[in-house]
Amino acid sequence: MLLRGRLASWLGVAVLSALLLAGPAMAETITQTFEHQLGIGESAKSFEHRIDLPEPLAMKGQIFIGRQLELSGKMVIEREELKGTYYYVKVRLPKATLWVAKGSLKVTLETGAQPPATPVLESCTGLKVTGPGLTPRLSWNGAGKYTAVTLLDRGSGKTVWERVILGKTVADLDEGGLSVGRRYFFGACQSDETARYSPEAKVAFRVDVKVERCRYCYGTGWETCRSCNGSGHFVTQGPNGQPIYTVCSFCHGTGRQPCTWCNGTGKIETPIIVPE
Ligand SMILES: [Zn+2]
Ligand SMILES: [Zn+2]
Repeated sequence: MLLRGRLASWLGVAVLSALLLAGPAMAETITQTFEHQLGIGESAKSFEHRIDLPEPLAMKGQIFIGRQLELSGKMVIEREELKGTYYYVKVRLPKATLWVAKGSLKVTLETGAQPPATPVLESCTGLKVTGPGLTPRLSWNGAGKYTAVTLLDRGSGKTVWERVILGKTVADLDEGGLSVGRRYFFGACQSDETARYSPEAKVAFRVDVKVERCRYCYGTGWETCRSCNGSGHFVTQGPNGQPIYTVCSFCHGTGRQPCTWCNGTGKIETPIIVPE
């Protein structure tokens, strides 16, 4: 009890509980909850957290051997790493628009005397990028417990988006967007409670545009002038009742204006995903 009390105070808000296992080795769990909040209008923000193996456990020969994660609210996980002596996690809250954005991540770490003996999961399969070209949907086949997904810009070599997805085999780009003409990799690694990740599976794609005839102006690029309804002039009455014609200043008498739907091009360009 004394040891437990000292550990709890050493860890601050962490809650420590002991699990008795068969044999002399004792496993323990450490639970810590990270809560964050953004005010209205505040930009999206990332927060990094690290939980170190408490020294008394290290002295007993214990190492971290697994973790469980529980997300709530708007919080997402960008990346995580579990080592024998520490756990690192980077979480993020999206921009708060109409209301405050808040959320929390509960991390439960398990210690043991030996690294996990079970095999690391196989790579994910069937990676797909579908849906809107600039904010696509990513999907894959796998165990679906913990999947680290990344979108990498192949031109710059930079990661443009990354998330650790819990309990699903699908993820929507929830922030930012891709660019037409650029090439990307979608990569996925999966893990179980041991937090050891499979080799990365990845697919290449680019964002292109599909050009279609504008359905609003039938490809002409023009629509009827909204000021004069297409007549090109206005009619008013003079002092003796005679009609006075005034040229429409908006369309200069042509009766038409550039199509507002396609900006007068006659074409609609839609970003699309092209596998490579
Ligand atoms: Zn007009
Ligand atoms: Zn048009």
